[in-house]
Amino acid sequence: MSIKEQIVGFRKSVQPATLVAVSKTKPIEDLMQAYEVGQRHFGENKIQEMTQKWEQMPKDIQWHMIGNIQRNKVKYMAPFVHLIHGVDSLKLLKEINKQALKNNRVIDCLLQIKIAQEDTKAGLTVDQATELLESNDYKELNNVKLIGLMGMASFTKDTEQIKREFMLLKNTYDIFSKQHKDWTTLSMGMTGDHKIAIQCGSTMVRIGSAIFGSRNYA
Ligand SMILES: *Cc1c(COP(=O)(O)O)cnc(C)c1O
Repeated sequence: MSIKEQIVGFRKSVQPATLVAVSKTKPIEDLMQAYEVGQRHFGENKIQEMTQKWEQMPKDIQWHMIGNIQRNKVKYMAPFVHLIHGVDSLKLLKEINKQALKNNRVIDCLLQIKIAQEDTKAGLTVDQATELLESNDYKELNNVKLIGLMGMASFTKDTEQIKREFMLLKNTYDIFSKQHKDWTTLSMGMTGDHKIAIQCGSTMVRIGSAIFGSRNYA
């Protein structure tokens, strides 16, 4: 199937969740195929690559940073980024706040929660996230706005385990959003596990290889 057909199909099958088309490593021509059928949410995991694509592409695209973030590079995306998914420390949030202020913006962010068994997946524990949300340091930041949570399940064929991990994230989201009524976004689900994620209450899926084909590197 073509990129265009994949986009149209996924947008329909995941609704009402938002489809973020994960375009990392892919050339502009591929992204433009998606754009031409109305796709506006794109996800990248490298700040430099996302910034280059932003410079060259139509300005109504909403750019999602889904990767691990180096604090010294936040300044490059601060003028335009739509949503930062992988916030896992107060230190990073402070840097985003500082750069957002310089650009006279409020930048939306998600806290990344570690739900997978693997050590390689980043994120905060539920306790660490609670502590961050309740801290005065966070409450003093006026140019960042947390609007929900993001998480990645273990890379496994065990669908029951994936489901348990997504339910943990969903339950955490429900608890936090009682205190934060303006929260809107639970970002979970990729190519291999988006169906389970949707069943578990995802409001935003990040799908790459099923749309654009497999990547040589990521
Ligand atoms: C690459 C990536 C995705 C998309 O992965 P696919 O399996 O290609 O759909 C989603 N989320 C994050 C954080 C990623 O790095």
